Amino acid sequence: MAATSRQASSVSPDAPAPVIVAIDGPSGTGKSSTSRAVAAKLGLSYLDTGAQYRAITWWMLTHDIDVKDTEAVAAAADRPEILSGTDPAEPTITVDGADASGPIRTQEVTGAVSAVSAVPAVRTRITELQRAIAAGAPTGIVVEGRDIGTTVLPDADLKIFLTASPEARAARRGGELKGSGGRPVDLDATREALLRRDAADAGRKTSPLRKADDAVEVDTTELTLEQVIECVVTLVEDKQQAR
Ligand code: C5P
Repeated sequence: MAATSRQASSVSPDAPAPVIVAIDGPSGTGKSSTSRAVAAKLGLSYLDTGAQYRAITWWMLTHDIDVKDTEAVAAAADRPEILSGTDPAEPTITVDGADASGPIRTQEVTGAVSAVSAVPAVRTRITELQRAIAAGAPTGIVVEGRDIGTTVLPDADLKIFLTASPEARAARRGGELKGSGGRPVDLDATREALLRRDAADAGRKTSPLRKADDAVEVDTTELTLEQVIECVVTLVEDKQQAR
């Protein structure tokens, strides 16, 4: 059980204190693209927490654990070794030493991840990994997910909550799927699946998807990715200057 960062950990004594940025929101709001780009621009580490929940879900599926059996999932939650590489130019994720970046994006994993991530023992395990990674980031980190500002890093220097209309989110997710699979995408089905997953994530008892009271909400419906990135970079720089 360990967490790694691929970035160097030596920092000069007069370097500014690391900055912690939490970016939450539902699927298809541009969280991953925005978070990665912001981290790259500002020289920060980057952590995709959805990838960690997908990784543990993939492990459960490949070890024949019934993802609807809460007790079985909880009993196995500590078993996989999940390592995240936090370089925004090349984020990585391995499970028991195997590259999981491809398998965690399958429909099978996407369909099962909300059930696995709702299990409290899974959240405890993954939250510990996330806090260890954030604490070890030399210059700071952008952490994206659903509960980062509310639960994982409640003392983050800046919290952003990204939103977008269901139509915009389905269109973006449909574009990603088309890009990865080549087959035409049924936008209505994509929209329904996305809304079902968001409802499950927002409705669970432990650490639901929710905007933190002190988060800045950014509605990305009418914005390009570049505009969202610029907006978040400005918010981080303002915070850094105010410290
Ligand atoms: O962001 P992504 O779509 O990859 O997230 C996959 C799933 O992981 C979400 O639908 C949610 O169930 C879970 N998740 C979570 N908490 C986070 C990040 C993701 O429960 N911080």
